[in-house]
Amino acid sequence: AELARGAHGTVAGRTGPTIPAVLGTDLEVPVRGGTLVQYANLDYAASAPCLEPVSAAVAAALPAYSSVHRGAGYASQLTTARYEQARHTVRAFVGARPDDAVVFTRNTTDAANLLARSLPEGTTAVVFETEHHASLLPWPDAVRLAPPAFPGEAVRAADETLAAIDGPKLLVVTAASNVTGELWPIAALAHIAHRHGARILVDAAQLVPHRRLNLTALDLDYVAFSGHKLYAPFGAGALIGRADWLAEAEPYLRGGGASKAVTGGAGRELPLDAEWSTDPEQRHEAGTPNVLGAVALAAACDALSATGWTSLIKEEERLITLLRDGLAGIEGVHELSLWGPAHPRVGIVSFVVEGWTAREVAEALSSEYGIGVRDGKFCAHPFVRHLLDGVGLAGDAACADGTAGAIRASIGIGTTEEHIRRLVTALSDLVSRA
Ligand code: PLP
Repeated sequence: AELARGAHGTVAGRTGPTIPAVLGTDLEVPVRGGTLVQYANLDYAASAPCLEPVSAAVAAALPAYSSVHRGAGYASQLTTARYEQARHTVRAFVGARPDDAVVFTRNTTDAANLLARSLPEGTTAVVFETEHHASLLPWPDAVRLAPPAFPGEAVRAADETLAAIDGPKLLVVTAASNVTGELWPIAALAHIAHRHGARILVDAAQLVPHRRLNLTALDLDYVAFSGHKLYAPFGAGALIGRADWLAEAEPYLRGGGASKAVTGGAGRELPLDAEWSTDPEQRHEAGTPNVLGAVALAAACDALSATGWTSLIKEEERLITLLRDGLAGIEGVHELSLWGPAHPRVGIVSFVVEGWTAREVAEALSSEYGIGVRDGKFCAHPFVRHLLDGVGLAGDAACADGTAGAIRASIGIGTTEEHIRRLVTALSDLVSRA
């Protein structure tokens, strides 16, 4: 564990809550016929750049690794220690209960699908249509709720719907919207879910890069998130939560690691039979796991925790307010929101620009100003259509050709005031050209 802790690049020795640097801030990109400008990455909600301590942790783990849980050799033991330490770090990062399972997955999508495959027979999922497709689509049997007009309506709709369902039930909800950044009332929803004997899965993909999450304090059953939105590279995420359903479900993948013993076989004239591990983590992590991904994910958790959320949130609020005020000051730019501009949110804002398609705006921002944003429907098609309706753009019609949508700017560590000002100036220019 000692070795593993060092490999995470734990920010030991750090004095005070300095915000760690991200890689790639000096990246220059060509605009307008070849001039180079510093890249303004305003697309953190898609994938956040890697933190320096994360890169250091991966580099420290590279010289000696071997498959985990498989060998007595030094490299295998070291790698196993690093991997299990990463699990421990992730558990602490989300404030999980001691008996919760922490299953490493590829990402949030994978985590939601794992839970969907682990539901007891006859479970009904209840899910809002405002969800990212990762949380909207995996459920074999789901009741889908329309976008609620205000947070209390979300709680009321969940209450009424769950009350009408017999048998096992799971409420699925995002903690922070990937489209509007708006925070959802997850504590109240957890309370309602439990009142009806349901469990709750919180999609925390967009929350954990911006806010502390404490699963125990909020009384959540499951939490899912992705490393690549949390300043680690691609390929690792986690499902954390109640162990019982996971321990009983069919293994998510069948293979080595998930199997405790395999008996029989033609040579013995007995049917081949696998006895699956009853440890929920091993049971659902068949095959050689993504150890470096887990190490990176844990290093990101460590780095963010060591930074202290207060300083992160303060800087984020300053920048997102600057951005939203800037957008509000441009006639013809309309911010999208479900619960109104005053509702609290993380550093994500989506908007439309009159006279321009979202793709045209995103392309112009990139090619003329060196700004990276996301455009489209952000893997949340029903929600974006609803929001476009809300600004009078007839969402279904606007999206019918598959190209319409909105523009999303999202910020994080590494975002500067200059990036925000550049975006606002660029949008003012574009509007004046429409
Ligand atoms: N949930 C939310 C709220 C997201 O924003 C995303 C990604 O954009 C996902 C789930 C899916 O994440 P991943 O693509 O890493 O599985």
